[in-house]
Amino acid sequence: QTNMANVLKLSEPQSELLDQVDVFIFDCDGVIWRGDSLIDGIPETLEKLRKLGKKMFFVTNNSTKSRAGYKKKFDSLGLDIPPEEIFSSSFAAAAYLEQTKFKETGKKIYVIGEVGICEELDLIGVPYIGGPADSDKTPDMGPGGKLIVDEDVGGVIVGFDRNVNYYKIQYAQLCINEGGAEFIATNLDAVTHLTDAQEWAGNGSMVGAIKGCTGQEPTVVGKPSPLMIDYLAEKLGLDKGRICMVGDRLDTDVLFGTDNGLKSVLVLSGVTTEEKLLSPENTITPDLYADTINDFFLEVPA
Ligand code: PLP
Ligand code: CA
Repeated sequence: QTNMANVLKLSEPQSELLDQVDVFIFDCDGVIWRGDSLIDGIPETLEKLRKLGKKMFFVTNNSTKSRAGYKKKFDSLGLDIPPEEIFSSSFAAAAYLEQTKFKETGKKIYVIGEVGICEELDLIGVPYIGGPADSDKTPDMGPGGKLIVDEDVGGVIVGFDRNVNYYKIQYAQLCINEGGAEFIATNLDAVTHLTDAQEWAGNGSMVGAIKGCTGQEPTVVGKPSPLMIDYLAEKLGLDKGRICMVGDRLDTDVLFGTDNGLKSVLVLSGVTTEEKLLSPENTITPDLYADTINDFFLEVPA
């Protein structure tokens, strides 16, 4: 079953979208950049939106960098974006711990993930173990045959980790199954475009490993979870009906928009093809779609 007849392509100059929206939330990879390359025309488009007085936020499910790390990435691409406009799933994990008052438990976090999550935990003063420090460990299967885990672990955060190994999986398994730690996932992206050349296994694979051995479902803090939008709406007093989510993935970005009462635009500059969007199997429908965000300002043909 499909409702694709309702999806309009932004293919002629129109001002409705810009009239109806005060705040744009841009996904990063596939919308602003692809891997390490800026998408053509983005600086000019962002500039035009700012001149129109639009607020904007940049939300990425990639947890490998902290907010400060993304600030540097924006800088390196020549985009001057204030840090308060940047939201990564690593930051979302820290925001979730703040919201749930994790610090008051006096416990620590076990991290499967890279430096981005560790930096965000440092900023909120929540102690953690694991992460890059556990990248070349193996579980102790000596005569005792027992891997001893820290009893003070109250949560396990699972983010994208290019050095995930059996030690980390077993450690996380024991913390959750035996220690009762909460299972938190930064995001569930199945595959990612680490390089443009092909799709690479995403954090869905690391989370899948922990789901597989614990039988538990994680709390997801990245898109499409409402956590970030609630955070923004609450902190900044934003009206959700005048926010537009713009992304290149149906099951994270567009779903984040449709599930949370936002307008949504799918752009074809990333992982989703027009064919996939319009296929009868697809059930996730944006309000509009466009080749890139530059099409928000299509010129009248001469
Ligand atoms: N996770 C990883 C590890 C990635 O490399 C990417 C994109 O490159 C993503 C997630 C998705 O990021 P975004 O939400 O900005 O599209
Ligand atoms: Ca994306």
